[in-house]
Amino acid sequence: MKRLTITSILIIIFCATLQAQDSKKMNKKVKKTEKEWRAILTPDQYFILRQKGTDVPGDYGYTNHFEKGTYLCAACNTQLFESNTKYESHCGWPSFDDAIPGKVKFVSDNTLGMKRTEIICKTCGGHLGHIFDDGPKETTGKRYCVNSTSITFVKSED
Ligand SMILES: [Zn+2]
Repeated sequence: MKRLTITSILIIIFCATLQAQDSKKMNKKVKKTEKEWRAILTPDQYFILRQKGTDVPGDYGYTNHFEKGTYLCAACNTQLFESNTKYESHCGWPSFDDAIPGKVKFVSDNTLGMKRTEIICKTCGGHLGHIFDDGPKETTGKRYCVNSTSITFVKSED
């Protein structure tokens, strides 16, 4: 009887440990060496996402794209923006007034003699764009100015 109890306790501890490892895996960040990123990204994607480049502004890529769906990080496929937060800002880059909660991170960026706030993918650290305070006042007032090269799009089924 006593032996069985100890076995049960050990099983419970073992299962709890497995679960903890599982949840850790779920939140795991994507970490790759620059060589590994270079191997999986196109040269343009590598320049924008890993070297903090910026797309030339214009009416290409996802700038004027308004299909219903979700925008993913082009480097790690994490869902970042929903199409219902995308709006026409006429700035030449895809613009969103919000991100999917917990998916992006903000970092202050003082390069190019400007004080800006960089948006990065929380999962892989990829550079997405910058956030500004000139977004739609009726929603968040924020403009998530994102490079088309940093994202991919998945159309929703309905
Ligand atoms: Zn990412």
